[in-house]
Amino acid sequence: MSGCVGPKQHEHYVVVLSMDGFRSDYPDKANTPTLDSLANVGIKAKFRPSFPSVTFPNHYSMATGLYPDHHGLVNNFFYAPDLDSIYLMGKPNPAFFGGEPIWNTAEKQGVRTASFYWVGSEYPVQGRQPSIWKPFDKSVPFSSRGDSVIAWLQLPEKVRPHLIMWYMEEPDAIGHAYGPESTETLKKVEELDSIVGRFFSKARKLDIFDKIDFIVLSDHGMATCVPEKFVNLNDYLPRDSFDYVFDGVPALLYPKPSYTDSAYAILKRVPNITVWKKNEIPEKYVYGKNPRIGELFILPDVGSYVLFRPDTRLKLAANHGYDNFAPEMEAIFYATGPSFKQHAELPVMPNVNLYLIIARLLNLQPAPNDGDSTIVEQLFREK
Ligand SMILES: [Zn+2]
Repeated sequence: MSGCVGPKQHEHYVVVLSMDGFRSDYPDKANTPTLDSLANVGIKAKFRPSFPSVTFPNHYSMATGLYPDHHGLVNNFFYAPDLDSIYLMGKPNPAFFGGEPIWNTAEKQGVRTASFYWVGSEYPVQGRQPSIWKPFDKSVPFSSRGDSVIAWLQLPEKVRPHLIMWYMEEPDAIGHAYGPESTETLKKVEELDSIVGRFFSKARKLDIFDKIDFIVLSDHGMATCVPEKFVNLNDYLPRDSFDYVFDGVPALLYPKPSYTDSAYAILKRVPNITVWKKNEIPEKYVYGKNPRIGELFILPDVGSYVLFRPDTRLKLAANHGYDNFAPEMEAIFYATGPSFKQHAELPVMPNVNLYLIIARLLNLQPAPNDGDSTIVEQLFREK
């Protein structure tokens, strides 16, 4: 497809919706007629989050096609020695964001884009942003976000975005609070399904509907917490032997250099967690080479949690950030529209492929990325 960036890109539209923390088996447990109908007319698969399976790195991995180790947003919280600065999720400093988001790839090639809260779109990465973007404001109802997307698709052709990426921060919060098996979470899943249903019934009335490819996905799943497995490192290690500590799932530790080996030996004996020196993290996670990752990396077992603070009260019914190969971490992926196969169920695929999927849909020349074109090709209809 190289060299064929032509008029096709100006006829075609892509709309991607991410619903945070939407575990892949929620549609089996709840009544989700909209998602079921997407599966019927298009593709249903599962998205494997990139490691670690947390929100900010994963949305940015999907946008850039790069693993967190490669784009530099290595966790929701970390210390960046290259910037001598701490990243806290949502912090508006574009210097943390490496790689090339798909909206930059598109805009550079003359294709207008819009984002409603996708991670990374609020800052000028490489000095660029989508033509339309919004600063995150959780008070804006999900249905209004969908109405804005519909309105953007009705803009005059000259200013109409051809790529729209939008975001809902549920069912993540409700999943954390009540757990993936709870009636509260499944009720929220059904509510979201009907919001998406109303969005599609409006989209179907658009003149350009048959030129739009839709993708509905999530960033990670959710696993029930087992409080007996929670670990407080205060019981094992002196906090003042570390320059920086980011506890949680996963936990990134930046020990004082002379203390690394002692801390490692102690952590090896702590139950319900796995500790690695960053250079011994197994290859399948594609993680550990980035200088922003602390010298010691702790992956709690599914259901466990790592604290490193005096206050041990933690109200959490469920969590993510665990091994991205654990089935509980698998996220949804649905795709429907003129370019995609119909009635197809495909196996789980790594979420870094989203970048290549969009590049292919919009006939864009992709920047270097970690996607796999053999996997991506399987999604498309024979021409
Ligand atoms: Zn998330």
